[in-house]
Amino acid sequence: MVRQDIDRIGVVGAGTMGSGIAQVAATMGYDVVIRDIETDFVERGFETITDSLERFASKDALPDDPETIRGRITGTTQLADLADCDLVVEAALEDMAVKQDVFQGLEAHCDDDVLLATNTSTLSITSIAAPLEHPERVVGLHFMNPVPIMEGVEIVVGEKTSDEATALAHEIAEDLGKTTWESDDKPGFVTNRILMPWINEGIRAFDEGVASKEDIDAGMELGTNVPMGPLTLADHIGLDVCLHASETMYEELGDRYKPAYLLKRKVEAGDLGKKTGKGFYEYD
Ligand code: NAD
Repeated sequence: MVRQDIDRIGVVGAGTMGSGIAQVAATMGYDVVIRDIETDFVERGFETITDSLERFASKDALPDDPETIRGRITGTTQLADLADCDLVVEAALEDMAVKQDVFQGLEAHCDDDVLLATNTSTLSITSIAAPLEHPERVVGLHFMNPVPIMEGVEIVVGEKTSDEATALAHEIAEDLGKTTWESDDKPGFVTNRILMPWINEGIRAFDEGVASKEDIDAGMELGTNVPMGPLTLADHIGLDVCLHASETMYEELGDRYKPAYLLKRKVEAGDLGKKTGKGFYEYD
């Protein structure tokens, strides 16, 4: 059984994705509690939310004023403060040990009928849920970046995920104004399984001198009608995130997921894309 009446949503992790999920949930009228491990990280999440809400307000694209929406969100560093949530979405680090630890903590604090969702990009839902007493209420709710703008949410069904939990995950995502599709719990799901080889091939094409980075991006944008070419998109996602996702799938699926050499070199150099001001391109 999973609880169907959702008023209060917990979000674990106040980074890029967690702050976006909290913002969207609060915009749609939910009470939100967002948890990170340090006060500074929670505050940084609030800054991101406030800036983003201001931008939406300037385009007249909010149902309420930004202060009202912002007022629905409470920040905390204590997982126990998520105890009275009706649904929790985890968006902490992409690390199995961290996620399993968070989910065990959630199981200890939240009622047994609370749906526990993870925003993981590539990790197995089945493995994240494996140490739990109630793995049937764990589901993948894979939001896309930037969450307030991207329409799609991938619902990922683990080995033990119940039909009821899957149905509720679709319902919640749609209630948050999103459109869903479903994937089995296979490495990378639908999106990253197909996206990451494409990005890595774009990086290899650049490294091997097929074309300039601008021409590779232009070729894919104009030639295949995607909104961003592979190098621009990699910069937006974060090169460290792309490398990590590729490495996870490489471990599970073998050679066709091998990360491009230049991707690794850029991450080692600390050029992680837009967030550090430099990746394949430079940003202000
Ligand atoms: P991020 O690094 O921006 O944020 C992660 C946050 O989690 C950090 O603020 C960190 O302090 C916090 N954190 C770490 N351990 C924690 C814990 N135990 N409890 C609470 N908070 C903790 O990362 P992100 O880009 O927001 O990614 C979060 C998740 O979403 C990852 O699983 C990632 O794979 C997935 N994801 C990311 C993207 C993307 O494009 N960035 C897209 C889809 C899914």
